Amino acid sequence: MARPQESVVHGSKAQTQQPSTFTDALAQPQQLPALDRLLRLPGVAALVTQHGHTVVADTARTLLSELRSAAVGHQLAQSAIESEALTAALHTRVQARLAPRMRPVLNLTGTVIHTNLGRALLADAALQHVQAMMAGPNNLEYDLATGARGDRDSIVEGLLCELTGAEAATVVNNNAAAVLLTIAALARGRQVIVSRGELVEIGGAFRMPDVMESAGATLVEVGTTNRTHPHDYERAITDQTALLMKVHTSNYAVQGFTSAVDEAALSSIARKHGLPLATDLGSGALIDMAAHGLPREPTPQQMLKAGCDVVTFSGDKLLGGPQAGLIVGTREAIGRIRTFPMKRALRMSKLPLAALEATLMLYQRPERLAQDLPTLRLLTRPLAAIEATARAVLPALQAALAPRYTAECVALQGQIGSGSLPVERLPSAGLAIAPVEKKGSGRALDALAAALRALPLPVIGRIADDRLILDCRCLEDDTQLTTQIPHLSLSPLAGQPSKKEHP
Ligand SMILES: *Cc1c(COP(=O)(O)O)cnc(C)c1O
Repeated sequence: MARPQESVVHGSKAQTQQPSTFTDALAQPQQLPALDRLLRLPGVAALVTQHGHTVVADTARTLLSELRSAAVGHQLAQSAIESEALTAALHTRVQARLAPRMRPVLNLTGTVIHTNLGRALLADAALQHVQAMMAGPNNLEYDLATGARGDRDSIVEGLLCELTGAEAATVVNNNAAAVLLTIAALARGRQVIVSRGELVEIGGAFRMPDVMESAGATLVEVGTTNRTHPHDYERAITDQTALLMKVHTSNYAVQGFTSAVDEAALSSIARKHGLPLATDLGSGALIDMAAHGLPREPTPQQMLKAGCDVVTFSGDKLLGGPQAGLIVGTREAIGRIRTFPMKRALRMSKLPLAALEATLMLYQRPERLAQDLPTLRLLTRPLAAIEATARAVLPALQAALAPRYTAECVALQGQIGSGSLPVERLPSAGLAIAPVEKKGSGRALDALAAALRALPLPVIGRIADDRLILDCRCLEDDTQLTTQIPHLSLSPLAGQPSKKEHP
């Protein structure tokens, strides 16, 4: 999919290379048509009718100016300025310009909740609710019972309280915002105590010490990387302390000689000193994952039962909804957070709010959740079904890749992803593709990965141990891949050792 900026001069190589004397002469700058004349060519006029003058004329202007530069540099073939060539070039460029930059892809990385690939997939119910709510006005901040102004939080607060057992709840843009707002509202200008073992970096520059600073609070680190004890917190508490905080180490594990103070123990310390306790859970599974045969993950309801005043978690990780930051807790703490002025800058938009409401409603029918919620459906997809998908794809792939690459079905270990359960692996299955020629195999794998990304529905795999791995857990419909295999275009040299390696 060539982007306009990638092709300086449109057309085949023959048009931009130095032409041979007899077959293709050089074009002179003055031979290029004027913009008006170009726009009146029949094929171009049709484009204008279809898309309007603005985008076609603008694209034509850019094309002409690039062709002019090529002609001035004696790099433009006569054939490139013929009417058909110009029309074709404009068609390609206008189409590329009008194509969205955000595109669907196939996630065959083996990581189900992949941040780079958009995290959780929305359930059908959520998509339908978004469509219905966005197409016209809605009661986002309007109380239909009284006709008075309403609060957008009230759309999901009842559901969140029901599902987590919290007294109150509020929502913001994402969990990073939820943590920032919680710290700012409860501890601005004062101290927050956190264990050294929990000073997490989530990626994308979300680091606990920096978040504290942005929120205007002072971080007080206690304990050591591997061990923190109750008396570490006790000793650090002064009249400057405003908050005790736990951070779920969602993307790494501290193993071996370790000790941490759990929420229940920490909450009794907090209570004794009249301080609030906040926990940043990160992924926030709302159900017992173990009941679905998945690794256990702490839930907000457990954290609240253990005595936390505030629990923050993401909407688009294990919860399986849109990007959102959910804050649940006591009426007192949530009241302070909700009325803190920064909340207005971090508030959720109506679009994800509609998706969040519909997603949370699915949790009212837990028996159906593994069917209705795509994230849970993919995480619990039976291994036999994943293996069957891999087998269904194999023959077409083998045929397309032979003789340069071999492909086989393999057992794999996938992950949940997005900082959830970093150590646990999900037994999975898929395809492993290896270059036949071992010399230059790195380049051959890169070329194959690029060809897969260039498909109409780009296929994203991963390279490991000199093989390209396509994990089939998230490929529920194998035709999404098999129907594309004929479009796979491998460069002629892919898989062949370069001259450099044959001295
Ligand atoms: C993922 C995560 C965050 C950030 O959440 P976003 O929704 O991506 O903003 C914060 N804290 C923890 C522990 C996390 O795992």
